[in-house]
Amino acid sequence: MIRCDKCSNDAVIYQRYAGMHLCENHFKADVVRKIKKTIRKYGMVKSGDKIAVALSGGKDSFLLLKILHEIITPRRDVELFVISVDEGIAGYRDELLSEAQRFVERMGLFHKTGTFAEKIGITMDEIVKQNFREAPCSFCGVFRKMITNKIAREMGATKVATGHNLDDEAQSVLMNYLKGDINRLSRLMPKRPIEGLIPRIKPLREIPEREITLFGILEGFPISVRDCPYSRRAFRSDMRKVLNILEDDHPGISYSLMRGFEKVRDVLPDSREDIKECEVCGEPSSGNICKMCEFRSRCRVHQFMS
Ligand code: SF4
Repeated sequence: MIRCDKCSNDAVIYQRYAGMHLCENHFKADVVRKIKKTIRKYGMVKSGDKIAVALSGGKDSFLLLKILHEIITPRRDVELFVISVDEGIAGYRDELLSEAQRFVERMGLFHKTGTFAEKIGITMDEIVKQNFREAPCSFCGVFRKMITNKIAREMGATKVATGHNLDDEAQSVLMNYLKGDINRLSRLMPKRPIEGLIPRIKPLREIPEREITLFGILEGFPISVRDCPYSRRAFRSDMRKVLNILEDDHPGISYSLMRGFEKVRDVLPDSREDIKECEVCGEPSSGNICKMCEFRSRCRVHQFMS
């Protein structure tokens, strides 16, 4: 058995990008240290904040909630609560959200869940049956973001914390470079807040996905092995494959990609300068009609949403 580079215990991981073998204790301490450093570096938690944690029931969101709960519980000047969104993907999200509910109950936090069925009038399973040209994730991402933002705003949140990890962020950067979509690229790290849009924070953006998985296993998080049935049709899953191959041959390439992006981001145009109110729903939008209303009008929705 290989020993930890910091003590005499057995190593549980080899961080190829750092050239370090770490035991369970030193590995967990390293993950928590990186998350706290990211929170400090970007000023993610400030006095007076009311932070909504977006809990999907995936391993990333469990780690995010656990660490934020540990950091914020001792403080009296910051509040924490949880938002989940049920997209209506039978046999997938419903199971994850049952685990999420139990996880939040143990922490004694307030937990608000919004569903596509009640907020949009249609579930993801029903959207997929309509066979749109776009991948299901295009609809899902827009609807979920808008529902989360609306609930967070109604609850008086000052920030929404999401569980995006290093792999997610690197995939987004690469995807937008390859599509030549500079507007979306600049939105990954917005330079200023937009009225009506609760700012998002991503405390796990420096943690590789495999380390989050290992952390979750060591902590005994209820980790599901099932993937969303609609994820395979996404361009993002191609980015994941490409980056995994590159990471194998060039350890640390995802970190390099993010560092490069952070250097160019200041010279990118601010694509959110012309934000206005959507003519249909009044939500912030870059066009006359927001993406959510545009997508909603294309779906055959039921009329029972709230
Ligand atoms: Fe939604 Fe796509 Fe995620 Fe499935 S993989 S939950 S369709 S965004």
